[in-house]
Amino acid sequence: MAAQDVETIFADILNRAKALDPANTRHWFDRLTVLHFDGGALGIGCPDDATVAFLQDNCKTSFTRAAQQVTGHLVTVDFAVDSLGRATSRYRHCAADLKLHPDYTFDNFVVGPSNRLAHASCVAVSQSLGDTYNPLFLYGHSGLGKTHLLQAVCHQAREHPDGGVIQFLSCEQFVNRFIRAIEEGNVLGFQSQFRSVDMLVIDDIQFLREREQSQEEFFHTFNALYNNGKQIILSADSPPGEIPSLEARLISRFNWGLVARIDPPSYETRIAIVQKKAHLRGLNLSDEIAEYVARKVHANIRELEGALTTIYALAVTNGEQVSLELAQQALDGQIQLATRHISITDIIDVVTRHFDVRLADLQSKKRNQSIAMPRQICMYLARNLTKHSLEEIGGHLGGRDHTTVMYACNKIAEAKSGDPQTNALLDELTRQVTQTPQV
Ligand code: ADP
Ligand code: MG
Repeated sequence: MAAQDVETIFADILNRAKALDPANTRHWFDRLTVLHFDGGALGIGCPDDATVAFLQDNCKTSFTRAAQQVTGHLVTVDFAVDSLGRATSRYRHCAADLKLHPDYTFDNFVVGPSNRLAHASCVAVSQSLGDTYNPLFLYGHSGLGKTHLLQAVCHQAREHPDGGVIQFLSCEQFVNRFIRAIEEGNVLGFQSQFRSVDMLVIDDIQFLREREQSQEEFFHTFNALYNNGKQIILSADSPPGEIPSLEARLISRFNWGLVARIDPPSYETRIAIVQKKAHLRGLNLSDEIAEYVARKVHANIRELEGALTTIYALAVTNGEQVSLELAQQALDGQIQLATRHISITDIIDVVTRHFDVRLADLQSKKRNQSIAMPRQICMYLARNLTKHSLEEIGGHLGGRDHTTVMYACNKIAEAKSGDPQTNALLDELTRQVTQTPQV
């Protein structure tokens, strides 16, 4: 194929992929290159590993489908870093093992009264690691931008000419790696890995609750880094003192630096965020529609994004331009285009992973809280996210009868409305279940 043809076909494929999956479309798609295109295989060149990971995880299906539709043949699609550097990289330094979401940068973060302090402190820290606020502790409900800000610091810090090793991970990953290190008899390796970084960023540190041995390990990691002037950044769903079962010595350390709260965004900030998210996808949104979406969704920015996705999915399906009427139809009618078929198994997978329990435990007769609560959450989520009857749900969870399931659903619903932490946890689990990528 002549080079010219390849470029034209690739441009068509990109346009088709954007139309097939607007939610995962990004304006930097235009910087992707063709590595090779022959024998039914298309290699797409990316600027860096983070972009490869993003496309691999989110866009493989839409790109494959687009390539097949445009060429009329079966095509397999792969993503790799363009080693010729044609797909201009945004990063000069890449710490190994650092997977960041390409969208979670300071540029893409809208600042408003609800997050001004958190944002300013993250910017300050990223410019001078270890020297300003140490540790920096962000907290707020789910979906308000904690992960985004933490990753923005990492993006920024790795652009710094002095480089430095940055470690970003969720608390769950920290705990799992620690457990694996114990199992493999390699605790020393674990310790040297975490105690030698220049910046340690741990997301959702509340996951340490009730994990005594991990708390102990984290305590020593913290001290080692702190004493060497290395930067520590943490996030949680509540302030240090309100994380249940967290050791006092950790609470006090978390308060040594700066603790910044993120509140739900104001109406004006929500409008700006909707505009920003639309722009990021290369879409133009009228003020009227942005205002409508911002009025409809209040508390959670993740839901704000979900609303935008629903609107665009409906526009693509109907082959219409996005109008206020279409936006109203999409949100008022609660059309759930983005939803897929959710099975009880999806729910069980997410819940067992989160609580670190086994399916066999959920199905057993065990009634201790550490098993009973995840089991009840499975029932509650299954009742809300699937069409299964109470009997069927009970059947999947050890043959329990419908009154047990109903009792569980009521109990969790009550906890959800009475306790912000349970509310946030259920939101997060729901997000994980509903956003599990389709295979
Ligand atoms: P959290 O970690 O607090 O649960 P996330 O950081 O995952 O929340 O944010 C959820 C979504 O909302 C992400 O897609 C993020 O980009 C977006 N988001 C949150 N706050 C902002 C903001 N101020 N500006 C732009 N996007 C935001
Ligand atoms: Mg988060």
